[in-house]
Amino acid sequence: MTLVWLVVGLGIGGAAGWWMAGRSRVRSSAAAPPGEGPPLLEWILRSNNASGVWLVAPGTREVAAPKGGIPDDLDHLVRARLEHQRVNDGQGVERLGSGTLIYASLDGRAAGLHLPPETSTGARATALRDLARLLDYDRWRPVVQDVVKEQGAPGESLESIAFRLAHQLERLLSVEVAIALPRPTGVEIAGVSMRSDRRLLRNVVEKGSMLEEVALGTSNAHAGVVLPMGRVMSDRRQREDPAYICPIPGGRGPVGAVAVWTKDGGQPMGATFAAFRQAIEAAGSRLISAYDRRALEEQAIRDPLTGLRNRRGLGEVMGSMSAGPGALIYGDLDKFKALNDELGHPAGDDALKHFSRVLLQAARDDDTVARIGGEEFAVWIPGATLERGRQVAERIRQAVAWSGWNWQGRKWLITASFGVAACPESSATRDGLAPLADAALYEAKRTGRDRVMVAREPKGRDS
Ligand code: GH3
Ligand code: MG
Ligand code: MG
Repeated sequence: MTLVWLVVGLGIGGAAGWWMAGRSRVRSSAAAPPGEGPPLLEWILRSNNASGVWLVAPGTREVAAPKGGIPDDLDHLVRARLEHQRVNDGQGVERLGSGTLIYASLDGRAAGLHLPPETSTGARATALRDLARLLDYDRWRPVVQDVVKEQGAPGESLESIAFRLAHQLERLLSVEVAIALPRPTGVEIAGVSMRSDRRLLRNVVEKGSMLEEVALGTSNAHAGVVLPMGRVMSDRRQREDPAYICPIPGGRGPVGAVAVWTKDGGQPMGATFAAFRQAIEAAGSRLISAYDRRALEEQAIRDPLTGLRNRRGLGEVMGSMSAGPGALIYGDLDKFKALNDELGHPAGDDALKHFSRVLLQAARDDDTVARIGGEEFAVWIPGATLERGRQVAERIRQAVAWSGWNWQGRKWLITASFGVAACPESSATRDGLAPLADAALYEAKRTGRDRVMVAREPKGRDS
């Protein structure tokens, strides 16, 4: 009988082998050979002190065994059990052979751990949690592969580096790990290890929390930190146990922070600490380059005066595959040249910033506000109808006209004109919206300014 091994997982040991893409090896023995197996299972095997770990998924069968292997009869028994369990989601504990089988199944996948007969309830709970994470991880694996494929490549992203570091440290210390990185919106969880809860990802940690302070360099490394992400994330996502928090050193200061849930939140000791430090320092220097790349990418899509997206940045949002229908508003300040000529360029710049603030106030989180030309702005409202786009434009028009703009202690009246087009009412595709919104804006200018015009139905379409 042959046992097919699909080795997909987090490479253990050597940096080069960190990620081994799905290669299959054929083994001639039915029993798992000693000391070999997919690294992720291997890791669960060791941390649970188990005598076998199995993962059965469509097209995949993976086993990790301790030195000495797994007896054939046990291997057969467990695999038959897991094949059976695969069809119904659930989990359980069963006395089996010389020990206890802990199993869990999810979405046609099943995983099992064989533990010694006298196993504590706590150890069983840990085993179950690891199995649940393993199954979840297996579902998530294609995404992980995508993220990690770029690792070490010239364009390696912040997320990929954070993710890789989290896994490296988890393998090293056998504890949960989270990586926090400063981002424009705050200090964000950018990477978690296999055992940590992935719902933490992309969450901004609480202001004033220890993880934030260490990531920003306002605090040094800390041991025994309870709820390092702050109270906001205390709900089941964050472990209750204390953690050890330390900075990820960059050139001038930290570029992020690491949280590891070691025993009592203590600092890793001895030789482990050296490896721990080394991994963090290596990630730090790669993060510096990734931040630089991210800043350049940002520059290419941002308008420096207002901080809004520029025309290209708007194009990215509207052109993305996930963008659906919606309304596009174009807005242009009226007689802006006269304002510039009369009050000077700095005044003009200030009026532009004022206009951008009014637009941002009118926009919701999902909307995109952009400066697409000199005094021309756009608001993309995903999911909005033409009528809704018109209402928003009208609200903005009134806000501009009524708010007034302060310059050198005086209030100046400014107005703007707007053109609105929506998909599918004005154009069947999002690509067709820009010229239509532009034409409607032109119409608003032509007919007197300080008004909103809506793109008519495309010519040749029945109404
Ligand atoms: P209309 O009501 O028809 O839109 O007239 P307008 O004067 O607003 O439009 P026009 O296109 O004739 O002039 C736009 C002016 O915007 C010309 C330029 O001086 C000014 N402008 C463009 N970009 C900037 C900028 O970044 N800063 C400042 N201060 N002015 C700008
Ligand atoms: Mg103008
Ligand atoms: Mg203009």
